[in-house]
Amino acid sequence: MKIAVLPGDGIGTEIVAQAAKVLEVLRSDGLKIELEYARLGGAAYDAEGDPFPTTTENLVLAADAVLLGAVGGPQYDTLPRAMRPEQGLLRIRKRLGLFANLRPALVYPELVNASSLKHELVSGLDIMILRELTGDIYFGQPRGARVSASGEREGFDTMVYSESEIRRVAHVGFNIAMKRTKKMCSVDKANVLDTSMFWREIVTDVAKEYPQIELSHMLVDNAAMQLVRAPKQFDVILTGNIFGDILSDEASMLTGSIGMLPSASLDANNKGLYEPSHGSAPDIAGKDIANPLATILSVALMLRYTFAREDLAQRIEGAVRKVLQQGLRTGDIFEAGMQKVGCSAMGDAVVKSL
Ligand code: NAD
Repeated sequence: MKIAVLPGDGIGTEIVAQAAKVLEVLRSDGLKIELEYARLGGAAYDAEGDPFPTTTENLVLAADAVLLGAVGGPQYDTLPRAMRPEQGLLRIRKRLGLFANLRPALVYPELVNASSLKHELVSGLDIMILRELTGDIYFGQPRGARVSASGEREGFDTMVYSESEIRRVAHVGFNIAMKRTKKMCSVDKANVLDTSMFWREIVTDVAKEYPQIELSHMLVDNAAMQLVRAPKQFDVILTGNIFGDILSDEASMLTGSIGMLPSASLDANNKGLYEPSHGSAPDIAGKDIANPLATILSVALMLRYTFAREDLAQRIEGAVRKVLQQGLRTGDIFEAGMQKVGCSAMGDAVVKSL
C-alpha cells in the first residue's frame, strides 16, 4: 500500500501527523504500508514556486492512495489565481480523475448534542452523500462574461453532463448502496433543467443493473428541505457537482462539527484522495488544538474504498468511537463534563484505543 502523504498548510501538518500515527500502528501490526511525503498548496508554492509541483504530481501518480491535510491561508490570498493553494487541490483532483466524492454524514451518539437539530431528528443518523466531482456547471464550456444582443453585460455558465459521466458515478452510487441499506435517492432538478432530465433518465437506466436497490428521485429544493426536516429518511444520496457541493455542506452540519467529517474522492479504479472535509483553519494552526478525527476517519475510508480492508476501516472507526465514549474532546466538540484534549493527545488516545 503506497500512500502519498500531503500535509498541506495550516493545521494540515498537525492533523496529518495524527493520522500517520494510526497508519504506523497498522504497519507495526504487519500491514505493508509505505508513506511518502510531498508538498501541496501554499507550502508547495513557498518551497517550489507551484501549488502542485511536478515532484508532488509524480508521487501521487505512482501512489495507490493519497492522504491530504488541507490547503490555504490568508498569506496566499493576494497571489495570482494560478498560484493559489486551492489551485493545487483542483489540479490534483483533475490529474487523478477523481470524479466520485463521498462524504459520509454520521452522528456519533456521544456528539448528538453538538448538532444544530433536535436530538430525535439526528440520533442514529448515517447518510452517505455521493457528489459527482469533475463535471456539471463548474466545468462546462462556454462560460464567461459578454455583452448580450441587447447591449447589456451578462455572466454565463454551461451546465452539461455526458452520458458516460452520469453512468460511471451512478455505478459507484449503486455499489455503495449495495453495501449499505440498498436504498439510493438521486437528487436533481428535473422539473426545470434539461441536464437533470437527462441525468434522471440515465440513472434510471443504470438502476436496471441493480434490481436489489430501491432507487428514488427527489428535486434538489425538496432535498434541501428534507435534510433538515427528516434527515434519517436518506441513506445514499447521489447527485451532481453543484447540488452535491451545497447539500453535502448542509448535511455536514447535521453532525455538529466539521472536525469530525472525513471525505473520499475516487477514480474509476478506486484509487482515491482522502481528506477531512474542513479547510486549513489558519485561526487555530500551530496551537495543537485542532480536531484530528476527520483526518483519522479519512484513513478508515482509504482502507475501506482503496484497499478493500473493511476490517481495518472498522477497527479505526471503533477506536475513534471508544475515545469519544471515554469522554475525550477537542475544543470544537467540547461540552461540560468532558475532558478537553489537544490535537496530538487525541491522536495518542486513538492509537492507544487501537
Ligand atoms: P476552515 O474549514 O479552515 O475553518 C472553518 C472554521 O472551522 C474555523 O473556525 C476553524 O478553526 C474550524 N475548524 C476547521 N477544521 C477544524 C478542526 N479540525 N478542528 C477544530 N476546528 C476546526 O474554513 P475557512 O476558515 O473558510 O478556510 C480557511 C482556509 O482553508 C482558506 O484558505 C480556504 O481556502 C481553505 N480551505 C481548504 C479546503 C481544503 O483544503 N480542502 C477546504 C475548505 C477551505
